[in-house]
Amino acid sequence: MTDPVPTTCMRCAVGCGLNQRGVDTGYGVDAVRGNANHPVNRGMACSRGIDETADPDGKWLTRPMVRRDGELIKTTWDTALFEAQRGLGETMDHDPDAVAILGSGQQTNEAAYALGKLARGGVGTRFYDANTTLCMASAVTAYYDAFGSDAPPPTYDDISDAETHVVWGANPAVAHPVMYRWITESAADGELIVVDPVRTKTVGAADHHVPVDPGRDLDLARAVLARVVETGGVDEAFVAEATTGFDDLRAALPAPATAADRAGVGMETVDHLAEALADDTLIYWGMGVNQSVQGTDTAGALIDCCLATGNLGPGSGPFSLTGQANSMGTRVCSSKGTWPGHRDFDDPDERAVVADAWDVPVDRLPDDTGPGPVGTVDAIHDGPVEAVYIVATNPAAGMPDATSVADALDDVFLVVQDAFRTETVDHADVVLPAATWGESNGTAINMERTVSRVRPASDLPRGVRTDLNIIATLGNVLVDGLFDRPADPASVFDEFAALTAGTDADCSGISHERLDEDLAVRWPAPDAETSAGYRYYDGEEPRSSESRTASGDDAESVWTFPTPSGRARFSAGAGRPLPESTDEAYPLLLTTAREADGYNTGVRSRESPDDPGPLVARVHPGTLNDHRDVVEPNEADDLFVRVASRRGDVLARLSPDDAIPPDVVWLPIHHPATNDLTHPATDPRSDEPNLKQCAVRLTSPASDAVTPAFERERLPRHP
Ligand code: SF4
Repeated sequence: MTDPVPTTCMRCAVGCGLNQRGVDTGYGVDAVRGNANHPVNRGMACSRGIDETADPDGKWLTRPMVRRDGELIKTTWDTALFEAQRGLGETMDHDPDAVAILGSGQQTNEAAYALGKLARGGVGTRFYDANTTLCMASAVTAYYDAFGSDAPPPTYDDISDAETHVVWGANPAVAHPVMYRWITESAADGELIVVDPVRTKTVGAADHHVPVDPGRDLDLARAVLARVVETGGVDEAFVAEATTGFDDLRAALPAPATAADRAGVGMETVDHLAEALADDTLIYWGMGVNQSVQGTDTAGALIDCCLATGNLGPGSGPFSLTGQANSMGTRVCSSKGTWPGHRDFDDPDERAVVADAWDVPVDRLPDDTGPGPVGTVDAIHDGPVEAVYIVATNPAAGMPDATSVADALDDVFLVVQDAFRTETVDHADVVLPAATWGESNGTAINMERTVSRVRPASDLPRGVRTDLNIIATLGNVLVDGLFDRPADPASVFDEFAALTAGTDADCSGISHERLDEDLAVRWPAPDAETSAGYRYYDGEEPRSSESRTASGDDAESVWTFPTPSGRARFSAGAGRPLPESTDEAYPLLLTTAREADGYNTGVRSRESPDDPGPLVARVHPGTLNDHRDVVEPNEADDLFVRVASRRGDVLARLSPDDAIPPDVVWLPIHHPATNDLTHPATDPRSDEPNLKQCAVRLTSPASDAVTPAFERERLPRHP
């Protein structure tokens, strides 16, 4: 029997330490358990992390492929890499911005760093994204607005200290099971409030459910803020000592009752939320907040709620729930919105440091961070992009208005690198089969900034290479000498970590060797001993709810934020209308969310690799009754209907469910059909798409296609 190998679960961003045991003969993982020695989870793990790590159900890629006469055929690595290099190389030679590169929070830090180095320093394209723009960009933008850096102040250590837990637009019971357990254990002695239009599994454990109307989160957050101000709930000492912009915020707040009415929530509920913030409070939020045209403004308002009530010390603070396992890692290392270590993308000195470290001309680095995936697809339709290299992500199913995305991918030279056969692979000209994390060596960073090792428990299957190996090999044929030969994960991590020295995301005290000993280290870690805890204050313990000002009125502030004033900043974003309201033609509101075990467009967890299974639409029984005339039962009495938006229409099985509000259609975001319907409008600050709401109607399954193509062309990106 093989020895257990300590590693990190790459299924979600909780970042649990696991022990994996490889099979005795052949390839694969035989057994997986939570690692009792790992500081993050102390042996806890969920069935999803265990099962999918040991035995993913997806359709694996095992040989490179190239397209011949319209068909993907198996080939050698030499042929596949030659064709990828020729297509990407010829394109970048005439215009770096003609090449787009899309990465993923499923990659290790080493692979994500290497892909960013290739995109920005090798190719020099502005059309590059590490997937964060599809999930965390709104939270990141709000963090920068408030704190001057992308570092959520709390850590997991705060969960047990919190008295009030507010979960807003998130369902950790299915998305982050181990963290959900910590939250509910802590809330047993306090209070759990869940803000969600849908009665989710997390709501089932809540003391108080706030069924905000879909897309009205900002109205509710501003109603709560206004009520905090009205009722004297502001921590005046903290606001005076550590913040700026409060007077502007106060002047811009709506009347609480007006905002509450827009949110569809009664004033007694607003009062309850405002009062709960008087205790040490953690506000967690997820995609229900971020994936909206007002995502940045809503995330900013939730941070404002914490700032106004002094909830920034132990057991309190704003805590965005990261989805993909290494989303935080890609924020730190991938050169998407900032250079490695959060170095300012526009700062000439920082650009010179990065170019020098990469040994590339500084004028090759693109001048701006690019538009994100939706803008990249626009640049295929109407801009310079002619070739796309996609690594470990599935935009043909995961992006809004997915039919339009798939059409765009057919118009470019497309290289796809993945472990699994995705919808995007079907559009590729070259396919590069990559290893999964059970076969890879590197690190990941969880949502609370903890770096942890990812180790292989199995040999690489024949025909498969690691992400880092493929990126570095392709990078070196595109730009000679961009990477060491061979690219060793520990050396790549050292290169990344050295680039973070002295930054607010300092990982220079971390190495593979240290992680082999310590298992997990939280950044900032500027030396080999430090594993950071609290952010944004110096000296002694900051405030508790009993004494919000540790240092007294006359003392110097203990709080320091990397903003020009050294203070945290209130936001005053008033939002904007949702991109699509319901109307006579499309009278129902579509909302999308995660189902248990759903992740990454479901490519790892489909029971049948070639069939994602029926799309199940949950609707309130009253909504079903209102649409009986278009519903058709099959022989088994399952009810089928066609769900149509202005972008497309999909066949769905209806599931009556009173957890869903009336006149709302709920679809799972990880089914590949769902995004045929969603709207590609984006938040103008973060570029994050409004994946959560759009207008739909139900029609008979027998009806013809219902979406005129011209309607799609008129869609505004920033309503
Ligand atoms: S909670 Fe997340 S990281 Fe932990 S075992 Fe489950 S899927 Fe893996």
